[in-house]
Amino acid sequence: MKRVAVWLSLLALGSCSPASVQPSAPEAPPHLAPPSPSPSASAGPVVNPAPDAASRRVRAMLDRVSRLRSLPVRGDVRAATIDRATMVAQLKQNLREQIPAEVVHGQGEFLRAFGFLPPDYDFEAGLFRLLEGQLAGYYDPDLKAMFLMDDLSSSEADATLAHELVHALQDQHYDLAPRMRYRPDANDAQSALQSLAEGDATSAMMDYLLAEQGGTAEDLPDAMMEAQIAAGVMLSPELASCPGILRNSLMSPYLDGVRLVHALRRRGGWAAVDRVWQTPPATTEQLLHLDKLDAREAPEAVPPPSIEPLGPGWSVAYADVYGEQGVRLAFEEWMPRRVAARAAQGWAGDRAVLATSTTGTRRMAAWRIRFDPHGAPPARSGEAREAFDAIVAAWGDAKKGAREVCHPLPGGTALFALIRDRDVALVAAPAATDSSPTSSSCAVARRWAAAIVSSR
Ligand SMILES: [Zn+2]
Repeated sequence: MKRVAVWLSLLALGSCSPASVQPSAPEAPPHLAPPSPSPSASAGPVVNPAPDAASRRVRAMLDRVSRLRSLPVRGDVRAATIDRATMVAQLKQNLREQIPAEVVHGQGEFLRAFGFLPPDYDFEAGLFRLLEGQLAGYYDPDLKAMFLMDDLSSSEADATLAHELVHALQDQHYDLAPRMRYRPDANDAQSALQSLAEGDATSAMMDYLLAEQGGTAEDLPDAMMEAQIAAGVMLSPELASCPGILRNSLMSPYLDGVRLVHALRRRGGWAAVDRVWQTPPATTEQLLHLDKLDAREAPEAVPPPSIEPLGPGWSVAYADVYGEQGVRLAFEEWMPRRVAARAAQGWAGDRAVLATSTTGTRRMAAWRIRFDPHGAPPARSGEAREAFDAIVAAWGDAKKGAREVCHPLPGGTALFALIRDRDVALVAAPAATDSSPTSSSCAVARRWAAAIVSSR
């Protein structure tokens, strides 16, 4: 699967399965499924016919997970064992074919503008370094083939096969390839689908790992499961040292997806999961809250921040909708996870924009986040107020009850937050190029933020 949640459609592209999932289970290095190559691509990865013993092993595991997952096998899955360098090269090629370069670049610059990536961090290279260390295998829905890394222990290979072959079954029943293909402004929707796919595959893989002990994934309390996924990831040197936003983005489809899948399984077994696959969550808000999924709570269409207030010399380099999961991941950069989850849970809609100067040397980012109506009319801005206050408290530099706050970052960049009614605007502005008060980074960010929440 792809579409890393949120942020990284990129990471998006990855579905690293969390490493060791159960103390007594073999460590299953993550595997990742890339965006599949476009059908027209002539130079796609080559799937060598697997030797007989290997194809028998794949077929046996496919039958096994089909029983565990209660989804009938509808076709064979080709499989190839390849070395790490080949796998990484295939994934890079898939990424380049599937996601426009300006989108990958734009995501990195958006994160950097808000201070979530170090100034000199090479986003794309970092992403691949991280995936390279985590990879164990991936399923390609366009090729109907799975790729397994050649340096796994036998137990790692089995766990990876189990997980990836669940993706193959999902694809056979729910047609993953077209659904996972990159679409503009669809980060939130695709993160929701990716999280469902990863939660499903991870849960079924755990059933496989726990079967010998007579258990199932449902027996594990959510908190224990999450701690194990997180611990497995943190044990990886590549992940432990990478920027937190990338690490959390990589993990969130597994953590959030498993939580939903287990809630569904406890309610009605795998049949309840299959019913959700018929109409997958449209937003990560629905993914994160079963009651909102049941109610199919629709997102609000939020107008994208216009770059007009920036004046001439600017253009939109990248835009997207990040959803509740993306908002939470950003808030986690500023506050503890639990506080971030609480602050993000009133999400009703959002639009993010990255603007770059035509000279290419400066960038500004804006994010308009709308919250659900709550509290006293007419504004009913209780949810927005809670999120705004959490940001202000995390930044540590404004009074309670403030309606706007500027937070300087090292290097002269300013982050600005402003609340109006149910909207919160977050703007990142670069260091000023001259010393007049109206061109200070706070003043520039403030003007844009005010214009954003004024537009209807
Ligand atoms: Zn997966």
